Amino acid sequence: MEKINEMRIDFTAKSENEAFARIAMGAFLLPLNPTMEEMEDIRTAVSEAVTNAIVHGYRGAEGMVRLAAEIHENRSVWLEIVDCGVGIADIAKARELLYTSCPEMERSGMGFTVMETFMDSMEVTSAPGQGTTVTLTKQIGTSAC
Ligand code: ATP
Ligand code: MG
Repeated sequence: MEKINEMRIDFTAKSENEAFARIAMGAFLLPLNPTMEEMEDIRTAVSEAVTNAIVHGYRGAEGMVRLAAEIHENRSVWLEIVDCGVGIADIAKARELLYTSCPEMERSGMGFTVMETFMDSMEVTSAPGQGTTVTLTKQIGTSAC
């Protein structure tokens, strides 16, 4: 499907940039005229992935997070959130509802489930020491334009 718009932002892995990524994502989606619910679903999924990159990927160490997005002709949205942090050894385990490696930080193990529920598809590519890439897609309804 033909790409009609795309963007890529690299930002420092700092918690204050979670809000930046969320707002930038929303602004990029505006021309699609999504419903409030579609907008909120995508912004929330992006927040979860970016928070994971910062909190788990880099664990306070310095690093960069990339948010890339494309809008396709059929009004589908493709997103990628990339970090070059510690990576994930067992992806299937990490994706389980309520699994968290950081219960002491009051994490609840909901992030991947939220992303999967709010988006149409989620892929996670990762390996220890090689960072993590989360790819998300969502079809925006065709009625509003
Ligand atoms: P919550 O999102 O509810 O605050 P959480 O972040 O622990 O809790 P998930 O977002 O579902 O839950 O992630 C599950 C686990 O997967 C994390 O605890 C962490 O171990 C691992 N993980 C997720 N994203 C990354 C990442 N980018 N780099 C390294 N590990 C990750
Ligand atoms: Mg999380």
